[in-house]
Amino acid sequence: MFETVIGLEVHVQLNTKTKLFCSCPTSFAEHQNINTCPTCLALPGALPVVNKEAAIKAMRFGYAVNATVNHSSYFDRKSYFYPDSPMAYQITQLHKAIVQNGELLIDLLDGSQKRVSITQAHLEADAGKNMHEGSHSKVDLNRAGTPLLEIVSGPDMRSAEEAVAYLKKLHAIVRYLDISDANMQEGSFRCDVNVSIRPKGQEAFGTRVEVKNINSFRFVSQAIAYEVERQREAYEDGRYTEEVCQETRLWSVADGVTRSMRGKEEAADYRYFPDPDLRVLTVSDAMVEEAKHIPEMPDEKVKRYVEVLGIKRDDALVITSDKELAFYFEAMIEHGAEPKMAVTWLTTELLGRLNKMGCSIENSLVDAKTLGTLVSKISDDTLSGKGAKEVLDYMMENESRDIDQIIERLGLKQVSDDGMLLAIIDEILAANQDKVAEYKSGKDKLFGFFVGQTMKASKGSANPNKVNDLIKERLS
Ligand code: ADP
Ligand code: MG
Ligand code: ZN
Repeated sequence: MFETVIGLEVHVQLNTKTKLFCSCPTSFAEHQNINTCPTCLALPGALPVVNKEAAIKAMRFGYAVNATVNHSSYFDRKSYFYPDSPMAYQITQLHKAIVQNGELLIDLLDGSQKRVSITQAHLEADAGKNMHEGSHSKVDLNRAGTPLLEIVSGPDMRSAEEAVAYLKKLHAIVRYLDISDANMQEGSFRCDVNVSIRPKGQEAFGTRVEVKNINSFRFVSQAIAYEVERQREAYEDGRYTEEVCQETRLWSVADGVTRSMRGKEEAADYRYFPDPDLRVLTVSDAMVEEAKHIPEMPDEKVKRYVEVLGIKRDDALVITSDKELAFYFEAMIEHGAEPKMAVTWLTTELLGRLNKMGCSIENSLVDAKTLGTLVSKISDDTLSGKGAKEVLDYMMENESRDIDQIIERLGLKQVSDDGMLLAIIDEILAANQDKVAEYKSGKDKLFGFFVGQTMKASKGSANPNKVNDLIKERLS
């Protein structure tokens, strides 16, 4: 029996207005190489200056994960050449990162939580992009110098499930903190997965393999499964030392396998040394103050949703897994939806419809105020649940958001008025005197018949709870 050991390195692109060491914008550019200047092009004599906004965002992350935020940290040069990096080194933090020793609670499928340590989170500059077109390659340096926060976990995870739970929590947190858009397709949240195995009970870790740059939760899970299997087979065949070496591998999406890319360099290979162009990164009291503005985090939201709003923990976990969902949910409640109903209407009715259309909550056709109001109309008996679904369907296909008008137009207004309902009920009872007699002599099942007839006579507009109560009253 083997145990899997996983540690993750996640590169989060910070959503600062400008780059890490110059004032070039980080926003999307129409053309290549226009968001550049002498500093990020590495022209001789240009000097880097640290972006304060990037430092504050890194610090905010540190405070959110209970880490130590170092009031002085510094930058190192990591030397290597690649065409997308004109400096021939990357400016990063190796020896003393701005954030160290944090932790994250991850939520597992069985309902338990597990603590994962965050060894450090450091600031570094991203590279540009190489673009290969037929027989030649081009370099675009618009991205060169964009701030990244590299978040390094301890080797604390023991399964693909735990690794994915960690990534999802981290993803949610950086989005709640609003320090990154963390868009995985666009590469602003990318992750390196370190995987090793060891015989159960063995203290020492096995040899780890690093699978680079995976950009989806599903691929992370598949790459881990593949590596664990490959390493286990090698172990059982007595070829572990030959076949499992400390190296960098790539996940091939097309073949569903990992492939060796290069032997893992040792830190010494990169000739790290403190960047002489940059001063010590010193954090002021004002920066600390600003960084400590932390919004309500997902763990706190779960607790509040369960204890104050009275919803199930599983539902709270689903809703808080994404800030857009949580904000939507809270806005529905502000507009009158009862919390438990808001859960169903958001996660089942709305998301169900949006999924079918390939939309996400961010570009939902119906906003939270409208859906919250619609749901409140079920509670106040204006609409039946079924009627509300028809209104929602109508809104998914039409522009109008005037709920009262839609109810009117679709003829969905529910009749709850005692007088109107009793008039119908009395007519039904009078026309079925024989059944009334049978009911009174003990044939309880006939109750449903009276309710059904009343609903039918009202063309479905009667409030069923009211009808139940009134018939009970009449027959007693
Ligand atoms: P390096 O500096 O060479 O990248 P680190 O010590 O920073 O190495 O570790 C990188 C990542 O690898 C961390 O996330 C760490 O938790 C993880 N890691 C270290 N050893 C192992 C191991 N034996 N198995 C799995 N992951 C590991
Ligand atoms: Mg590393
Ligand atoms: Zn620049």
